[in-house]
Amino acid sequence: MSILIFAENRNGKFPRHVPELVTYGRQLADQFRVQAIVLAPGRMDHPELAALGKYGAHRVLSVPDQSLDVMDNRMYSDVILEIAGEEDAEILLFAYSNAGKALAPLVAAHLQAAYVSAITGLPAGTDPFVVRKKVFSGKVFTDIFVKTRKKVFTLAPHSLEASEHYDPVTPEIRHVKVHENRNVTERMEIKSQEGKLLLTEADIVISGGRGMQHPDNFKLLEELAALLGGATACTRPVSDEGWRPAEEHAGQTGKIIAPDLYFAFGISGAIQHLAGVSSSKVIAAVNTDPEAPIFEVADYGIVGDALDILPKMIEEIKRRKHV
Ligand SMILES: Cc1cc2nc3c(=O)[nH]c(=O)nc-3n(C[C@H](O)[C@H](O)[C@H](O)COP(=O)(O)OP(=O)(O)OC[C@H]3O[C@@H](n4cnc5c(N)ncnc54)[C@H](O)[C@@H]3O)c2cc1C
Repeated sequence: MSILIFAENRNGKFPRHVPELVTYGRQLADQFRVQAIVLAPGRMDHPELAALGKYGAHRVLSVPDQSLDVMDNRMYSDVILEIAGEEDAEILLFAYSNAGKALAPLVAAHLQAAYVSAITGLPAGTDPFVVRKKVFSGKVFTDIFVKTRKKVFTLAPHSLEASEHYDPVTPEIRHVKVHENRNVTERMEIKSQEGKLLLTEADIVISGGRGMQHPDNFKLLEELAALLGGATACTRPVSDEGWRPAEEHAGQTGKIIAPDLYFAFGISGAIQHLAGVSSSKVIAAVNTDPEAPIFEVADYGIVGDALDILPKMIEEIKRRKHV
């Protein structure tokens, strides 16, 4: 038996959830006294692959096939299933990312394995096997009993800190026959955001709601985000109104994000918005209404006018940064 960890890459680099996932996989592997094996499809540099050993991967398997540079669910699931069979993987771990959410159920269906999405910690017990996850936008935890031998999980962001306790490993190259005719997706055009930090990758997110009053006031959020090296986000009504671009909309019907710091200005904290941001490590909020629901989930809160507070914050940060 082994634990197989799927590590996606973005342009040859692992996104920040991969070290977290590998740390988790190693801790789980230690519970069962088995190997934590990372599978990294696509062409990548050796040092990037080897570094996953530091987070606890016993082995890192690279499948450097050019056709895997494009993430296609069918081709990727073929590769994962083949390697899972060769390595006798009983537990398959994916990040709770767009790729993980697409691949994990597909792989689980093929393996006739139980699938639990967005688990939050190590199993509470292994006999019976019990995993925990958040439900109702993070308001409640539920314990799920997993009865199948093979299990597929996605790990919720910030479930644990990535930790480097081990040495790098030498990646192993695997050649898997990739059936390109399985690729039913044709890329017609690639539009990539330039010069802007990707919202889903940002450690700090500065976000605004209808309480920002006017589209022009979002310049303050942009300035604060630039000073802190963060990205900007917004609520759905703000993007619906055209105050901000649609790609900034966070929530149930928008982007699901989990930065280290989520700063909410003039956001009420509706459940649909929280569904996309409640996994943030720290939530800070500024709202004129002390009863606003955002304060129920915020770690830090300021009752006040965002349009008064933002210029003061910007001034103070500039003073401290000597800019
Ligand atoms: C099916 C469905 C899906 C949805 N999906 C999403 C989603 O994905 N994402 C999302 O965001 N919403 C979503 N919504 C909408 C959601 O229900 C809320 O309506 C929305 O999140 C509220 O946005 P808001 O906080 O910007 O505005 P409001 O609810 O209008 O809140 C504005 C807040 O600003 C405060 N305020 C006012 N002036 C100031 C000031 N000067 N300084 C500081 N604070 C101030 C007010 O006290 C208030 O709390 C969805 C709704 C439905 C029905």
